[in-house]
Amino acid sequence: MTEGSDKSRCPNCGKPTAAKYRPFCSRRCGDLDLHRWLGGHYRVQTEETPESSADEGGEIDEI
Ligand SMILES: [Zn+2]
Repeated sequence: MTEGSDKSRCPNCGKPTAAKYRPFCSRRCGDLDLHRWLGGHYRVQTEETPESSADEGGEIDEI
C-alpha cells in the first residue's frame, strides 16, 4: 500500500516519480526537461506564429 500513495509519474519518460527529484524520476530527466522547456519556449514562438508575421508585415511596409 505504501507504493500506491504516490501515483505521480515522470512527465519525461513516464517512470514512477522519485521523491528526491519530483516531479521527475531522476535528476537527468529533470535537467533534460528544463532545457527542453527553456529551449522550446523561444523556438516555438517563431514557428507557432506564422500569421503574426503577415499582420506585422503590413504595417512595416508603410515605411
Ligand atoms: Zn524520467
